[in-house]
Amino acid sequence: MFRNFKTVPFVVFGRGCFGQLNDIVKKHRKATGSFMIFMVDDVFTDSHLCEKIPLQDQDHLIWINVDDEPKTTYVDQLTRSVHQLSGDLPAGVIGIGGGSTMDLAKAVSLMLTNPGSSADYQGWDLIKNPAIYHVGIPALSGTGAEVSRTTVLAGPEMKLGINSDHTVFDQIVLDPELISGAPFEQRFYTGMDCYIHCVESLNGTYLNTFSRSYGEKAMALCREVFLDGGPESDDKLMIASYFGGMSIAYSQVGICHALSYGLSFVLGLHHGIGNCIVFDQLEKYYPEEVGEFRQMMERHNINLPKEIMVGVEENGIEKMIDITLNLEPLMENALGPDWKEIMTRDRIREIYEKL
Ligand code: NAD
Ligand code: ZN
Repeated sequence: MFRNFKTVPFVVFGRGCFGQLNDIVKKHRKATGSFMIFMVDDVFTDSHLCEKIPLQDQDHLIWINVDDEPKTTYVDQLTRSVHQLSGDLPAGVIGIGGGSTMDLAKAVSLMLTNPGSSADYQGWDLIKNPAIYHVGIPALSGTGAEVSRTTVLAGPEMKLGINSDHTVFDQIVLDPELISGAPFEQRFYTGMDCYIHCVESLNGTYLNTFSRSYGEKAMALCREVFLDGGPESDDKLMIASYFGGMSIAYSQVGICHALSYGLSFVLGLHHGIGNCIVFDQLEKYYPEEVGEFRQMMERHNINLPKEIMVGVEENGIEKMIDITLNLEPLMENALGPDWKEIMTRDRIREIYEKL
């Protein structure tokens, strides 16, 4: 059976296209008095970007803090605070920031129309009701969160996405000017998330022509950005992120992501840097790509944190292993149907203990 997956229906791309946001959302302000919720990464407080947000009198801006990656508890708190603003639901939710802020915007737009806690919906296709109209505007590129059908959340038990067709944004605004001010290390780590999406998709057993075509182009763009550089790097990175996301949409990620999910759940490590730390140890699985990744690190003077597992107790390691093994589609994509014979608890522990 072939997957019939939903993609983002409206995309605007180009330097300065953020300026069109007001026109784009205007037609979704259904009735007089209907309002929009802007969820914006608080790194932009008092910034030039902040002044350009087309906020109207009835709209609300909520500053989003992403010091910790998104948790179900934060989503529930934000959803409650939106409900308290008015007796009505907003006409739209607009997320401006990196993968964390975009995921929070997706999650809140879903939880405004679905009862209970966001933790109840972590998994696949558990969402019943369509979300509020939601718009994603990346200010950091690489995660592919702008195109994916998931919002990745740390819940009481697991770091696991709310995967559903309703999760997909209704509109994305890809303006390369928005990512130009990102700190270079963060830009690198998030950019490498895209590179690793491509590596895992292109080397996976789920690969098909659709995924390969997007993956190869995204990979080529990552090489141009992180090995050559140049004036159009931000434009290229933004499209690489989109294409990398499209590539994994019809395939899957692999071992690196499965291990990295365990790391971020237990140690609170952020996704991009966690992926880089794990990927650096996966030479056995992706020899050429790990070599190229190291060249990119060298070119950008990146020094990965070392010995991050020092002090992690036995139950922490066990939890990481449980999380990794629970991500069955990722493992199967990477290693094929007999993956359980290759990726045993001992083998996973061995990789974790090297980090
Ligand atoms: P992020 O959103 O967590 O942001 C990282 C840091 O960069 C934060 O401190 C943020 O404030 C700052 N930042 C963001 N944009 C900036 C800018 N333009 N200028 C200055 N600072 C800026 O980082 P990310 O790597 O984009 O996202 C990681 C998150 O995305 C994780 O929570 C991960 O689970 C999620 N993710 C989601 C998907 C998906 O498909 N939904 C895919 C991969 C990762
Ligand atoms: Zn990723």
